[in-house]
Amino acid sequence: MNILKFGGTSVGSAKSISALLDIVEESRKKEDCIIVLSAMSGVTNLLLEMAERAQLGEDYMAPLLAIEEKHFEIIRALLPASAQNPVFTKLKIYFNELEDILQAVLNIQELTAQTKDLILSYGERCSTFMVSHIAKQKFADVEAVDGAQLIKTDSNFGQAKVDMDLSELLISDFYAAHTGKLLFVTGFISSNEAGRVTTLGRGGSDYTAAIWGSALNAGEIQIWTDVNGMLTADPRIVEKAFSLPELSYTEAMELSYFGAKVIYPPTMTPAFLKKIPIVIKNTFDAAFAGTYIRHDVKHSELPIKGISSIDEISILNLSGSGMVGKTGFSGRLFSLLSREQINVVLITQSSSEHSITFAVNPADAIKALNLISKEFELELQAKKLEYPQVENELSVLAIVGENMKHTPGISARLFNALGRNGVNVRAIAQGSSEYNISVILSKSDLSKAVNAVHDAFYEDLKKTLNIFCLGTGNIGKELFKQLEKQMPFLAENNDLQVKVMGISNSKQMYLSEKGIALDNWQLKLDEHAEPADLKLFVKKMKAMNLPNCVFVDNTASVNPVNYYKEILEGSISIVTCNKIGNSADYEQYCAFKKAARKYSVDFYYETNVGAGLPIIRTLKDLMMSGDKVAKIEAILSGTISYIFNNFKGERLFHTVVKEAQELGYTEPDPRDDLNGKDFMRKMLILARDAGYAMEEQDISIESMLPPACLAANSVTEFYQELENNAAYFENMKTQAANHQQVLRYIGKLEDGKVEITLQMVDESHPFFALSGSDNIISFTTDRYKDRPLVVKGPGAGAEVTAAGVFADIINVGKK
Ligand code: ADP
Ligand code: ASP
Ligand code: MG
Repeated sequence: MNILKFGGTSVGSAKSISALLDIVEESRKKEDCIIVLSAMSGVTNLLLEMAERAQLGEDYMAPLLAIEEKHFEIIRALLPASAQNPVFTKLKIYFNELEDILQAVLNIQELTAQTKDLILSYGERCSTFMVSHIAKQKFADVEAVDGAQLIKTDSNFGQAKVDMDLSELLISDFYAAHTGKLLFVTGFISSNEAGRVTTLGRGGSDYTAAIWGSALNAGEIQIWTDVNGMLTADPRIVEKAFSLPELSYTEAMELSYFGAKVIYPPTMTPAFLKKIPIVIKNTFDAAFAGTYIRHDVKHSELPIKGISSIDEISILNLSGSGMVGKTGFSGRLFSLLSREQINVVLITQSSSEHSITFAVNPADAIKALNLISKEFELELQAKKLEYPQVENELSVLAIVGENMKHTPGISARLFNALGRNGVNVRAIAQGSSEYNISVILSKSDLSKAVNAVHDAFYEDLKKTLNIFCLGTGNIGKELFKQLEKQMPFLAENNDLQVKVMGISNSKQMYLSEKGIALDNWQLKLDEHAEPADLKLFVKKMKAMNLPNCVFVDNTASVNPVNYYKEILEGSISIVTCNKIGNSADYEQYCAFKKAARKYSVDFYYETNVGAGLPIIRTLKDLMMSGDKVAKIEAILSGTISYIFNNFKGERLFHTVVKEAQELGYTEPDPRDDLNGKDFMRKMLILARDAGYAMEEQDISIESMLPPACLAANSVTEFYQELENNAAYFENMKTQAANHQQVLRYIGKLEDGKVEITLQMVDESHPFFALSGSDNIISFTTDRYKDRPLVVKGPGAGAEVTAAGVFADIINVGKK
């Protein structure tokens, strides 16, 4: 025989009740069944609301009518008109009784726990009566059972303790007297010795099922709900949560104790004692296997089984010298709390015994505080204890699984994920069983934390990177194109999902909680965008508080740079092709690095030098592996390379410059390239990365332009001046040609000095043979002394720069 328990959503609509009846029909073909039912979803909460309103002397008719209507609607939908009346009548009787009780509460404006339980009991009684009547249309032998009198408890109303022996006896007797019947039993409700209604705690219908299962030695206790079993995390928080095929009783207990609402924790005990498997299944997807909670679970490869969380928790901290070495102190504290029925969710004590922190339900926090103040009055007065403080707005996150016991590094992985996402941990507890590690954190970080931890532990799933992109110019556009094209591959091979959550250019911005599809981002921007406001963009990005965030700066403007530090300090990584940040004040350059280190995020700027070429990375690897850079020689202006490589024969200088700009090889303002400024910035960044505390003015630049060109006030004027000075450039060209030499603009770092000079080199020089917009850089180091390490390739252009930005983003994702 199996027990089938259907939760609130499974009796919540005409469609779900029909599904429920089909499931019962199928199950009965194989096994005898007993059906345990919850109240219709939302009804218990409405009953509670009514009770509280009545207690305050407020009108409670609206929720009462809502409950009536919920039931009547189902009856009208699922019963033929001829069969409706008796059901309406009986339900009306229930609602009248309920109204009488509520009126009594309203009259005296007092609501005892006992009366509250009585009021709540109507949820299960109404649903069970209603569903059993509907079931009569399909099955001949249905009997509705008000199960309250069959489960005996103490008088702890609201969360009564079950007398298992007596209840099992009553249930088995009842069952024996009803053989051949299809029983529909109320969940959640029970009664005390005096026959008064008690309840088993919120979510307690699961427990009812387990008690019946234990009494009748059921083959299975099936919990039918609205999700595919127990998932790795609460699916309302983690979209990627997936169903766990198997769990041990302890794992299920720990997960549900720390908030996995799908099953009520006490349910596990009777099942565990009798080794009856509990199966959690989905009423809306009956074919899915669901989750088995049972004795001999197979070994699983997963490092942890699940992550659960309690949204609202308060902590109290008790500290002071009076606690040190005092045996029995914590005994006194916790027996006090237990005597007063305050449930302590978790406890941590510092090894110096100087302080104890414990977490309780927020509703109990003030009560706990008052009790402690009374109990330890003497110690507090003598200042041996500090006055305890309550902290609210906190949550608990717990990772659970038996494998934790055998796997080192689990907590490191947990704290790494939290740390990288800027989640501040307030307290930590590890159960001695090593089945769980729980941390207390700020409530506002909970969703981010659970998602980040989920990504960290379930590597086989795609890790999600949430990116916010600034700039929709050549590079921005190209990046979106590459991202869109590459996403399926990334998902397949890199286990990475990149979601664009925000886009801004200088005019418009759009941030979306759902993410922005890249196939028509421009359209989305036109439809939904608000006026661009960088400050607001950053604020909104931070407020979304998403895990694994990357801010991508594809602009060449100083504005975003002003926010870098704040962004890094908000635990958001930065990928930037914008050189301005790293080439302004040295102090600022250091501040970015420091912030990234401190907040364990990444600050990647590979494309600051040589577009997508691995220059910054190579230098970093050399330095980190202990090599010493003696000299760096480089051509780092792809623009100037392009210009010199194409400035030959009949061609004029200004037309070649124009062409370079049209091909996207120049900075938005070509003067930044030709006045050597862009090159200077790159050399400065390299010098700084090579360990030199250097400023812009420490770099000497030989100008390749005559003074009139340098003095131009606008781009148009600049082109005009280039044309005016055509003879100057022609002269350079012919001189070089006459000597079989080529013009090269070369940067050099040696002995802590950086200079950029215009040189004419012949074919013996390694930089002679350079084509197109290529960059070249040679590192002479302790290890690469005789033959330098050379990196060469296309070092400008939107396509290669975007590819470099893309690679940096992926590198953030790999962490
Ligand atoms: P029922 O009304 O069927 O008893 P509950 O609302 O009590 O259902 O529990 C089911 C809900 O529990 C799911 O809809 C889901 O939102 C929530 N839940 C929280 N954590 C988990 C988890 N780890 N696995 C599955 N569901 C979870
Ligand atoms: N109806 C009760 C509640 O909402 C019991 C249950 O659904 O399990 O808490
Ligand atoms: Mg439930």
